[in-house]
Amino acid sequence: MQQVVNIQPPQFLPRKFKVYQHRQLDKIEALQHIPKDMLFEMKVVANVLPFRVNEYVFNELIDWDKVPNDPVFQLVFPQREMIDPSAYDRMADLMKQGGSTQEIFELAEQLRAEMNPHPAGQVEMNVPTIDGEPLRGMQHKYRETVLFFPSQGQYCHSYCTFCFRWAQFVGKSMRMNSNDAESLHNYLAAHGEVTDLLMTGGDPMVMRTKKLREYLEPLTESRFDHVQTVRIGSKSLTFWPYRFVTDPDAEELLALLEKLVKAGKHVSFMAHFNHPQEMGTEICHEAIRRLRATGVQIRCQAPLLNNLNNDPDAWAQMWQEQVRLGMVPYYMFIERDTGAKRYFEVPLYRTWEIFRDAYKQVSGLARTVRGPSMSAGPGKVEIQGVSEIHGEKVFVLRFIQARNPDWVQRPFFAKFDETATWLNDLKPAFGEEKFFWQDEYNSMQG
Ligand SMILES: *Cc1c(COP(=O)(O)O)cnc(C)c1O
Ligand code: SF4
Repeated sequence: MQQVVNIQPPQFLPRKFKVYQHRQLDKIEALQHIPKDMLFEMKVVANVLPFRVNEYVFNELIDWDKVPNDPVFQLVFPQREMIDPSAYDRMADLMKQGGSTQEIFELAEQLRAEMNPHPAGQVEMNVPTIDGEPLRGMQHKYRETVLFFPSQGQYCHSYCTFCFRWAQFVGKSMRMNSNDAESLHNYLAAHGEVTDLLMTGGDPMVMRTKKLREYLEPLTESRFDHVQTVRIGSKSLTFWPYRFVTDPDAEELLALLEKLVKAGKHVSFMAHFNHPQEMGTEICHEAIRRLRATGVQIRCQAPLLNNLNNDPDAWAQMWQEQVRLGMVPYYMFIERDTGAKRYFEVPLYRTWEIFRDAYKQVSGLARTVRGPSMSAGPGKVEIQGVSEIHGEKVFVLRFIQARNPDWVQRPFFAKFDETATWLNDLKPAFGEEKFFWQDEYNSMQG
């Protein structure tokens, strides 16, 4: 008989990691070795787009031999092409002339406003109300799912812009958020059609457990029986897995999640992984193990980003690794038309090629992933493929999610366009004037 070896689990000690923000780029040891003009470029961009990184990320996730092409470096460090050349020049000139902090701040606000901080009509169209009063910090776009942006959780340190987060992060003026747990609860109690609450941001996991509990614990009351699922969107497994292992309130956090599960909720932790390189550390594996031990299901989603993960093998490897670690691949997104899109965007037909080349490499268990998908004004539109019908080359599309649930799952067609990167670049195929949902969508916009 084989001897059973008793492997001791690795011991994880609480660690303090320094956090660096945009004025501290000079202080980062590892950056001392990169060319001076590149460092200046990074400072220019960091004045416009938020920057924040901790030592765990740059010591343990970035392979400095691969910089600047390292994917995690691309994710968290600013790159010149993330802002457009004229914006870049204006900021660079101001800095060279020794502009004051105030002048830099004002120019930055102006440049950000030009970067479409709130795409897809999210400020005008999705804001729920109670007694006619708009509830800031909430979005209710699809019947069954309410999004909540807790104001204590509006930080994320990466530049990918498929979510709402960069606009949340940069300043109060663009933010939508709420610290009003009572409004959230009143709204949910009054809306029996809502089955899913999605806590998002930023990253709700930067909140202390005590605060998180105020939002989540009441959901175990019977007036919230219809809210079956609590989703929490988070990058913390990448940036701060210690959150679930050694942070002072880690145990309390896990207990809170377990309590929700025991009360009959499905808790889905929506992990944002852009590249397999983010999931390789022991501490990350331990965090995943602990989260799963509470009964939480981890699902994974990420945008496809040029310069970072525009590589089918990286996706295939990532999905396989997710399955191996007990997580479920869920979405591949297409970069939204906001923030640093110009740097990360990939033509739609390429997103489909990459998705397909990755998808065909993995077993069925990893094919739970959907995409590539655009979170556009009318809904989540998936590129199902490129095809030729009666001699016309077309995109085959479908709604995964839509403002009108009846639009979902009906194939529709757009003219093939090699340069298109977003839904509004597309024209209906077969000489049609508009897409089947277009009139109705226009009338919803008022
Ligand atoms: C993606 C998304 C959801 C969730 O959609 P599912 O198909 O249920 O994953 C909800 N609200 C908004 C605004 C979204 O973008
Ligand atoms: S999508 Fe996720 S990882 Fe990217 S900026 Fe938003 S929260 Fe961060």
